[in-house]
Amino acid sequence: MSGRLQGKVAVVTGGASGIGAGTVRRFVSEGARVVLADLDAQRGELLARELGDAVRFQPTDVSLEPDVARLIDVAVAQFGRIDCLFNNAGLGGVSGSIDQTDLGEAYQRTIGVLLTGPILGMKYAAPVMRAQGSGSIISTASVAGTAGGMGPHVYSALKAAVINLTRSVALELAPFRVRVNAICPGGIATHIFAPGFARAGLPEGANADVPELMRPALARMQPIPRAGEPEDIAAMAVFLASDEASFVSGQALVVDGALTAGRPRDPERGTMVAQAYQEAARRSAGKPD
Ligand code: NAD
Repeated sequence: MSGRLQGKVAVVTGGASGIGAGTVRRFVSEGARVVLADLDAQRGELLARELGDAVRFQPTDVSLEPDVARLIDVAVAQFGRIDCLFNNAGLGGVSGSIDQTDLGEAYQRTIGVLLTGPILGMKYAAPVMRAQGSGSIISTASVAGTAGGMGPHVYSALKAAVINLTRSVALELAPFRVRVNAICPGGIATHIFAPGFARAGLPEGANADVPELMRPALARMQPIPRAGEPEDIAAMAVFLASDEASFVSGQALVVDGALTAGRPRDPERGTMVAQAYQEAARRSAGKPD
């Protein structure tokens, strides 16, 4: 225990699984007390019980205003303050080609969780933090919000929205020393990929070890040759929640094993430009490709 969050109080949404659960564990190990919020009461209660008095579970649907208002009230009533709000709950949501995109209930649900959720979290945490004159709001965006091709269309649009929401709210709250940042994870081994197993015709991953099944594929996705883990994102969340980040606000911090750094270098043939030179040289020498 190094105590980087000693005495701090955090609210973590989507805290029952994956990145959220990894962050709850890490926050507690750093000395924080945490209100763990999630739709999944079974897993939420279980983790809260395992971690003891430092954690309280609050059943919450982040897309519903009364739930989020209650969550913030409960945190203040229980622990007296809120130093960090981690808007992390999420799902893959509607997917498929643009002409097949369903604009019905699943679409509304996706917007509700991925965009309304962070807006509601900010709306209700801001007055508490403003009155304290301190606080750190963190939202889990994604590399899919920074470029195309890394997630479903609607998911990518909403994660980009979270990044700009972060900047916008950071400017409003900066005079009160309330910081607002986003983390953009790359491929992290979690249960978020479970519905994809069903779409691929495999048994839904509810009972399978989806993170374990995904690790080898995720390891091949980016230049650092391993899957991202919840602990990688938790480490960035600890930094942003801590006083070490007191001058960091309005930013989207990418944690992705160099996935978005550029086109990967081919170990045999070098960079993209080196390959272009080689091809041009071959052509000028009249050699076939
Ligand atoms: P996960 O499925 O393991 O965890 C998501 C948690 O959110 C679950 O416990 C789920 O019950 C909860 N949740 C879903 N809807 C909710 C709602 N309406 N209210 C409250 N809780 C709700 O997935 P994860 O990968 O840990 O996802 C966490 C965040 O990270 C999400 O915002 C996701 O978009 C983002 N993200 C994940 C990856 C990745 O590769 N895993 C990459 C980039 C961003």
